[in-house]
Order: sequence, then structure tokens, then C-alpha cells
Amino acid sequence: MRIRVLPEEIANKIAAGEVVERPASVVKELMENSIDAESRSIEVEVLSGGKKLIQVADDGIGMSREDALLSIRRHATSKISSAEDLAAIKTLGFRGEALPSIASVSKMELVTRTAGDLSGTKIVVEGGRVKEVGQIGCPVGTRVRVSNLFFNLPARAKFLKSESSEFRHILNIFTWNALAHPDILFRLTHNRRKVMDLPPSETIAERIYAIYGKSFSENLIEIHEELPNMAFHAFVGNPSFTKPNRSYQLFFLNGRPIRSRLIAAALDEALRAVIPRERHAVAFIFIEMNPRHVDVNVHPTKMEVRFSDERAVYSQIVRILNKGIHSGLYVPGSTSQAMSEERMERESGEIDLPNVAQEEIPLAPHIRASVEDQRIDLKLGGLKFDQLAIRGVLFDTYILAESGDEVVIIDQHAASERIIYERLISQFEGGGIAIQGLLMPITIDLPANLIEAFLENVELLSRLGFDLERFGGNTLLVRGVPSSLENSEIEGALVEILERIRTGLGKVSRTEMIREMLVILACRSAIKAGDKLSQEEIERLLSDLSRTELPFNCPHSRPTIIRLSRKELESRFRRR
Ligand code: ADP
Ligand code: MG
Repeated sequence: MRIRVLPEEIANKIAAGEVVERPASVVKELMENSIDAESRSIEVEVLSGGKKLIQVADDGIGMSREDALLSIRRHATSKISSAEDLAAIKTLGFRGEALPSIASVSKMELVTRTAGDLSGTKIVVEGGRVKEVGQIGCPVGTRVRVSNLFFNLPARAKFLKSESSEFRHILNIFTWNALAHPDILFRLTHNRRKVMDLPPSETIAERIYAIYGKSFSENLIEIHEELPNMAFHAFVGNPSFTKPNRSYQLFFLNGRPIRSRLIAAALDEALRAVIPRERHAVAFIFIEMNPRHVDVNVHPTKMEVRFSDERAVYSQIVRILNKGIHSGLYVPGSTSQAMSEERMERESGEIDLPNVAQEEIPLAPHIRASVEDQRIDLKLGGLKFDQLAIRGVLFDTYILAESGDEVVIIDQHAASERIIYERLISQFEGGGIAIQGLLMPITIDLPANLIEAFLENVELLSRLGFDLERFGGNTLLVRGVPSSLENSEIEGALVEILERIRTGLGKVSRTEMIREMLVILACRSAIKAGDKLSQEEIERLLSDLSRTELPFNCPHSRPTIIRLSRKELESRFRRR
């Protein structure tokens, strides 16, 4: 017998809870069972958003009559048998609860046959009661039909959303599973209309293409890396292809769709510098790791997991994504930034994106001298800094330059911020930011809650380049400051940093907090909009910018550079 009822002590170790919340949960559990049953083809059919009917039919290993009868009992599973098995789960299911839970809140019909049996078994259960058990002719595999969900729980049924909203949830879970298993054929029909028909694919890329289409797929960067503890495979939208929410961020662990705040945070961290603040990356992230190093038994729907070494996993993901995304980085061009209509169309994935990243900017000699022989990030966006001809400064803020067939406009504050930010990071990582002693120490009066923040973070503040001392009451004596900071900015910077410590403590990670502080320092130290720069200062700024790792965005993720093509000017003046 394959299926066993788990002994009570093991059953009790399983994260318990309600699995059936809505039609999509039924689809999820049934699809998972079909995947676990080694199916090559899985067909999902629903009527009325799943409220009337959900049917999942597979060509998997099927069940014998005996197993089929056991499968609808609580805690009956073929997937684990001991408490140790819980520590290394390789199947999607393991709790033995889905079929009985579904059967208890619906009318469920199970038809199944193994390859070794001549005829199949049919079981009908209504509201948890077995109504019929019989023999039936049927193909090898399993078909579960769930009708009238929550017929015996009217209160629950009332909470279901509209047909289209419930179907959206089903489509989500279907897509998520289909992405997790590109080698399996999946079909989905709703109200007898074919919604998805996905042939088996060799690669995830092919499956993404089949689901989302051409223009969507063309905006993805594929990132792959094998480490001793994990294999990492991701498809990340290029930075110009973002979404207003996280609905295009899907994560997978060992073939299981998962939700993970850790992975989402790592993704944010890695892409922060290249994606505008209110936008979200498109990302499909697939992680394979030894099941012993992750716990999937933390949540009833098994959607949440716990990594045994969260820090290591987080920093590995940030590093891999960072590296991957920067090798295919994109420069904001004026066309894609300004044309919202085009952008909206692009959001819906219907038109092809112009590949701005590949455009080259030709040459102008005079900055070349200052940067020659120095390594420049020339790959990035094809902008050749050493070939920019400076034409002037607009509003004492925007440096206007020309390069071949393009106008290049640089925001002097954003550029300076980027340069200083990267310098501060490397100083911070190298032990601490250089402190410049003040000839005349200054005193600053602070509100009591900021004094608190200071007292608790003296060491951090010293690594940030501040030499401070409490001078009785709520007064701070400042003896030294980060060397990039002008005197007039000291108080403002310090107050802003302490304020951030006070509000962020316990809410954001330490790494994030430090990053934000470096951003504050960079912003306070940078050249301001309105500052008048000499030709020499401008040249230095551009040459320094060209040597940063991410020259195209300031640390707040705003662009540092905007490009306007000659062609665009000509079309605005209606020359063409
Ligand atoms: P679990 O998946 O956690 O084991 P379920 O209640 O979902 O629990 O299923 C109980 C058992 O029924 C499974 O362990 C499996 O042996 C069997 N089963 C369920 N669905 C199928 C299927 N589509 N094909 C073959 N066996 C199945
Ligand atoms: Mg299951």
C-alpha cells in the first residue's frame, strides 16, 4: 500500500490550517497532486470562476482502489512516513490534508487508475460523506471534479468574490505552477473557452514566451549561477520594463511556487539603483537547493518557506542579481522616459520596445585627455563619456553636452551624488569614512529622542565619519565630520541621519539603514542644483561620473543623464 495514515505525533508536527479558502486553493492543491504524481499532461477546467466546477485531469501514476479510499482520509499521504521526512521534503504535498479538506466542503468525484489495474475506481464524496465507490473504465491517471464549492458552508460561499475575480486567482496559480514545471503540458479552460494551452517546453524561457508573449520575453535578462549551496536561475525585466506593483514577481524553490519576503527584499536591494522608487521589477526567480536547508512546513498553504541560513541566501541573491543586471544595463533615453502612452502600451506587453541600450554615442575629444588610460564602464548604454562636447549649463543645474547625433543632459547634483555615494560606500566598506577634524568644534542642540538615537549608535556614527560627544543635556559636541561634508551641511546631515535611525530602527535591515545613511551623506555633500561650476569642475564631474559603477542613476534612483536624439529634435521641429 502506498498511502498511509500518518501517526498522530507526526500529523501534529505539520503546520495545520485551512487549505481551502477559495476556488484557486482547490486548483492549487489538485495541480500539485498531479505534478507529484509524475504527470506529463495536466488539464484544468473551471466553470464560473471555479464556483460551479473545478476539474483537474492528469495522466500521472494514478491510485489503486485501496489508495484512492485512503487518499480522502485526513493525514493520509504517500509522500512522507516519518518525522525525519519532514526535514527534507521533495514533493509539493506532504500533509495528506488536501483531498479530505476539499471533499468536506464540496461535491467531489475522484476517478483514478494505475497502469497496473485493468479498471479504475470512482469515488463520490459529498460534504465529507462517501456517497459512492465503484469500478469504472478510464485512462491511466487521475481526474478530480469538484463542484459546488462551499455548498454546505453558505457563510463561506458568500465571501467568494465575483466570477472574474475568482478566475483571476485561478489563472495566477495556474501560471505559477506552469512556470515551475515547463516540461509538463498544461491546459486551462474557463466556461469552455480555452485560456491557456502550453505545450511541454525544454526551457523556462520557452514557457515564459508561451505564457507572456514575444515583447514581454524580449525585455527579460536571463541570469544563471551555480553555487555550492544553490543553483540560481532568474529572468529579470530590464530596468526600463517595470510594473507599478509586485504582481510580476514570481519565486520558485525546488519547483514549488513560493512567496518570500527575503527574496523580494533581495530583489529590491539589487535593483534599487536602476529602478525608480515607486516601480517594481519584473522577475521570475528559480532557486534549487538541498531540501534540508529549507523548511517548507511553516505555513498551511506551503507557500512560505524558511531558509536555514537567511543572511547567506539574501546576500548571495543580491550579489548574483546585481552582477547579472549590470551586464545588461540600460540608460534612460528621452523617448522611453517621456512618452507615457507608449509606456502604457509597453506595460500591457503589446508593442516592441526600442532597444535604447544599444545606441552608440560618437565622439568629442576634449574630455578624453582627462580620462584617457582610465577604465570606463563603456559597455553601459554605449555612452562614451570621453567623447562628450560640453556646450553649456542650463539653469546652473543641467550640463548640456553634445555627442554625435545626441544631446546629452546631465543633472549636476544627481551626478555628483552618484560619485560621492560610491566613494562613501568604498570607504565605509574599507573600515569607515575618513573623518576630518574640525578646527573649531561645534555644538548642536537636539531633541531628546535624537540624543537617544545618538547614544545607541555611537560606533555606527563614527564609521560614518562623525566624531561626536555628548556635551551635557541634549547638546552634542561635533569634533570631526566626513571629509566630503561642508560645514554648512553638518547639522542638517546629522539630524537627518539620527532621525532616520530613530524611525527605521527595527523596521529595516541594518544594511538598508546604512545604505540610506550613505545616501543622506552623499546628498548633503554633493554639488547642488544652482551651484555655478567652472569648466574644469564640469570636466572633472563627468570624468568622475564615467568611472562610477552605475553612472546613469543617482542613489535615489533618479536618472543622472537624459539623452535626446537628433532624430527626435528633428521630428519635434517637423523637419521630417
Ligand atoms: P498530500 O498531497 O499532502 O499527500 P493529498 O490529500 O493532497 O495529500 O493527497 C493524498 C494522497 O493521495 C497523496 O499523498 C497521493 O498519494 C494521492 N493522490 C492525490 N492526488 C493524486 C493524483 N492526482 N495522482 C495520484 N495520486 C494522488
Ligand atoms: Mg496534495
